[in-house]
Amino acid sequence: MSKPLSDHDKKKQISVRGLAGVENVADLKINFNRHLHFTLVKDRNVATKRDYYFALAHTVRDHLVGRWIRTQQSYYEKDPKLGLDMEELQEMEEDAGLGNGGLGRLAACFLDSMASLGLAGYGYGIRYEFGIFNQKIANGWQIEEADDWLRYGNPWEKARPEYMRPVHFYGRTEHHPDGVKWVDTQVVLALPYDTPVPGYRNNVVNTMRLWSAKAPCEFNLKDFNIGGYIQAVLDRNLAENISRVLYPNDNFFEGKELRLKQEYFVVAATLQDIIRRFKASKFGSRDIVRTDFSTLPEKVAIQLNDTHPALAIPELMRVLLDDEKLSWEKAWDICVKTCAYTNHTVLPEALERWPIDLFQTLLPRHLEIIYEINRRHLERVSSLYPGDVDRLRRMSLIEEGPQKRVNMAHMCIVGSHAVNGVARIHSDILKATKIGEDFIRDLDQLQKLREFVNDEAFIRDIAKVKQENKLKFAVHLEEHYKVKINPNSMFDIQVKRIHEYKRQLLNCLHIITFYNRIKKEPNKQWTPRTVMIGGKAAPGYHTAKMIIRLITAIGEVVNNDPVVGDRLKVIFLENYRVTLAEKAIPAADLSEQISTAGTEASGTGNMKFMLNGALTIGTMDGANVEMAEEAGDNNLFIFGMRVEDVDAMDAKGYNASEYYNRLPELKQAMDQIAGGFFSPKQPDLFKDIVNMLMYHDRFKVFADYEAYIKCQEKVSALYKKPKDWTKKVILNIAGSGKFSSDRTISQYAREIWGVEPTLEKLSAPDDLK
Ligand SMILES: *Cc1c(COP(=O)(O)O)cnc(C)c1O
Repeated sequence: MSKPLSDHDKKKQISVRGLAGVENVADLKINFNRHLHFTLVKDRNVATKRDYYFALAHTVRDHLVGRWIRTQQSYYEKDPKLGLDMEELQEMEEDAGLGNGGLGRLAACFLDSMASLGLAGYGYGIRYEFGIFNQKIANGWQIEEADDWLRYGNPWEKARPEYMRPVHFYGRTEHHPDGVKWVDTQVVLALPYDTPVPGYRNNVVNTMRLWSAKAPCEFNLKDFNIGGYIQAVLDRNLAENISRVLYPNDNFFEGKELRLKQEYFVVAATLQDIIRRFKASKFGSRDIVRTDFSTLPEKVAIQLNDTHPALAIPELMRVLLDDEKLSWEKAWDICVKTCAYTNHTVLPEALERWPIDLFQTLLPRHLEIIYEINRRHLERVSSLYPGDVDRLRRMSLIEEGPQKRVNMAHMCIVGSHAVNGVARIHSDILKATKIGEDFIRDLDQLQKLREFVNDEAFIRDIAKVKQENKLKFAVHLEEHYKVKINPNSMFDIQVKRIHEYKRQLLNCLHIITFYNRIKKEPNKQWTPRTVMIGGKAAPGYHTAKMIIRLITAIGEVVNNDPVVGDRLKVIFLENYRVTLAEKAIPAADLSEQISTAGTEASGTGNMKFMLNGALTIGTMDGANVEMAEEAGDNNLFIFGMRVEDVDAMDAKGYNASEYYNRLPELKQAMDQIAGGFFSPKQPDLFKDIVNMLMYHDRFKVFADYEAYIKCQEKVSALYKKPKDWTKKVILNIAGSGKFSSDRTISQYAREIWGVEPTLEKLSAPDDLK
């Protein structure tokens, strides 16, 4: 909202640029004071910083309300001085940490883009009472703390009890001549909360609708006797636990019943909401008796963000068959035309494969429907490939074995008309005065920066912005973590969820190697680096937690070695989340995107760093491939095995010891980890990590070690030539236009949803001018 402040206007008295359109400073003040007085029930003598933040948030929300209502209907600069420090108030805002990593963050970008492109899109999800845990580091270990983000209330949301919907669980099915009934179910209510999603300066405000679980009044009260009443009220928690907490696994499937309940809960509530809206629109117009659903796919597109909402397919079928009494053929045609599926990962451990027994108990009717979908699907496969039994087994929605399971990805593919991945390999600053501000809406215009790659003044400007961001981040780190940082060192950053496939361990091996080289030749002119690694480990992922412990252990040794001084520092960035990303990424010189080729579906962190003026060291994986293409491959530091090399190595067998024995610096680093050099009080602390790397490393860290180290040498050499470095930075920024989520959403709109995005503005509502 507010622009970065120059130093002299920092602290107090700053402009509220985001409130353009508030014609009258006096009005703004009145509204702010009105909220402070009537909403917060405070005056200036007793108001806290949080009270001011809430009063401001309410004032801003009021400003959006007219636009919000108008946008929804249409689907169907002054310098006001408030005497407040906006940056300080911005710090009061809680992250809505309702996702685990890139997938959720991308969904948030997509909502932003749909509003900015004027698309009538809704974002649906669960209003978790506790989002992704807050990460604390204690003695080098990750500690999880509950993310009580709603403790002080949420000024942006509006509860909509009038749109509350029942969601059914358990029970059994009855087959009658006039159709199937799902009976004796337990009901949980889904209460929607709406958050406005404003487009970029176009007066559009879309809706993000998050569902919260509420027990119905009669929950567990049907057969209570005297004395059972209290227990029945206490048991309401059981129903309301559905929206209590986000499962903290990234790229990992854990087949818990509560998780399956969550997935059905959001799907069932959302589909009812979509169908209610469709029926209310003129398109769903009906002759009193029945809605014509055949036009549903023309008016509604349901984009399944990974398989987590895959139950939308059998649920839509259930509604069309059992409630709306359509034939199977008609219902299936509508379902497939309405649904589209985006795949987000290739890691087998991430694929959702729900045990049949769980389904049978929780969603018996859906299981019947899935069996019928599968029967018809396999019948088609058989007629296309007669006698190919192995193909039938591979393509079935139901996996046989000791425990039968439903393969949700297969169901999505069969039940959707479009399937896409998130990067091609996987699916088959600029100065406003130089290129204007149009790039904000059309990121491809960043291409124009190429013209300025030899413009001395521009090079200096870019380098200056980066230096300011680095200083600012260094100050933040020094304030929060009491670490001293050399702002002239290269900021080498790897922030993302901690996962073996993302290979934070390869980064560790480079750090140790660099450390050993400094120790060996302390008088050489080493390029100073501050290596920062951040990210959460899923609480049940032992190896990931040990990786964090190793990073902090390396930091303890390296950061306290006087021989090293400020030429190498290793910092674990605690509690990586969106607000920390917003500070860290603009401060990065080097972005680490070093997953084993073929494992990262796309990555989005990689793009954020590129756009924000960092150079990438990375493998030919995910979107790195397209980044290299857009920026020119000599402007990225690409190293290591390609997908073909990894496959060839899998065929022949990967032998870590071979690298360990051949590469003395790798051997030294591993011997140090294994021998307690970084954990002198507990020499065998990292035995599990060592054992994994040496004997069962699925992600072949050692195979890329040599190429990675050599590539890092090139990085260090280039960093010594600031002008050449910044030229590459400019070419990276100039090539980053393709990675705008606006571009992605325009493409989804045209190719999958069959709608035309628009950059036209809605007119501002009169009542707010
Ligand atoms: C972008 C982002 C991610 C995804 O990062 P990858 O490097 O693509 O895994 C995860 N978490 C946060 C907070 C992000 O902003």
